[in-house]
Amino acid sequence: MTNLLDLDAAGLAALFADLGEKPFRAKQVSHWVHQRLVGEVEAMTDLSRTLRERLAMVATICGPIVVSDTTATDGTRKWLLDVGAGNAVEMVYIPEDDRGTLCISSQAGCALDCAFCSTGKQGFNRNLTTAEIVGQLWHANRALVADGIAVPWVEQGRAPITNVVLMGMGEPLANYDSVVSSLRVFLDDNAYGLSRRRVTLSTSGLVPALDRLREDCPVALAVSLHAGNDPLRDRLVPINRKYPLAQLLAACLRYLDRAPRDFVTFEYVMLDGVNDTTDHARELAGLVRDVPCKFNLIPWNPFPGAALRTSPRARILAFQKTLMDAGFVTTIRKTRGEDIDAACGQLAGRVQDRTKRRIRIHDAAGATTAH
Ligand code: SF4
Repeated sequence: MTNLLDLDAAGLAALFADLGEKPFRAKQVSHWVHQRLVGEVEAMTDLSRTLRERLAMVATICGPIVVSDTTATDGTRKWLLDVGAGNAVEMVYIPEDDRGTLCISSQAGCALDCAFCSTGKQGFNRNLTTAEIVGQLWHANRALVADGIAVPWVEQGRAPITNVVLMGMGEPLANYDSVVSSLRVFLDDNAYGLSRRRVTLSTSGLVPALDRLREDCPVALAVSLHAGNDPLRDRLVPINRKYPLAQLLAACLRYLDRAPRDFVTFEYVMLDGVNDTTDHARELAGLVRDVPCKFNLIPWNPFPGAALRTSPRARILAFQKTLMDAGFVTTIRKTRGEDIDAACGQLAGRVQDRTKRRIRIHDAAGATTAH
């Protein structure tokens, strides 16, 4: 059986061509699944009974299995989703006055092993499928509608989720095909119809995949930078040994030719005594001076067993001031959902590391095996 959540527009078109049906059926079914958010073929009432029966013999709508659903005092909501074999991933809804943002996961675990990241500490289990990625947005919209969410844009007939960020568990560009297929569904006017500016992909810097994304489906770009020199970034973000800063920043400039926004957002996690002095900020400002960008400073969120500490507030403010004095728009990320461990970098999900860390970073040789 085909899961309809697994198909982008081209996949749906192929399905209906195989059934000998007209191409417009693909759009009709896309509306039912992604806009009207139905959970079964039988509910698609403007399809003839015969077509529904034929479709139900080959296709289903199979959303995520929710293990837990928790709402924080600030309204942030976190779902833990079963992805089989004892593994689970998380997605987080962040309500704001003018938007509803969903932070979604792209892999069960992550092989890149960034020093400050809870997901990375669990190792890598597997890539999520398109259905498992798209299913996160589908499920969040359904759940929020079912709960009677009262926000102006829903009252005007739009979906609760207005913005998607691929900043949950996993490195999106290490799961390229499923992520791009999912992005296409997010952007498709017959599905979620989000603008490219409202979909942000965050990467630790897989340069060749970033160049591919520029051609295939450029959306807003965030880059996990975290250091202004290679030796420090090698420690914090080990993929830097394979794609050092000069290569990464050159790729960012290439990407901006096609990006929906005219800047890159650089994310920078603030780690006490590691990367947080004003000298670090000055070095960073010099490094990116030719890249149109904004900075988002992320106070590090502790997780059990980590040997790091969050930078004191005064040092974060001094770091911000140094970057702003150098002419960079610099925000400090507000921590959301802390009481349910939904804050940035805390998404642990539940992944059994059988240690298939298929991407192993080898320094000098620089060999990285892709998924
Ligand atoms: S920060 Fe991102 S790329 Fe690095 S280990 Fe965590 S999930 Fe993977």
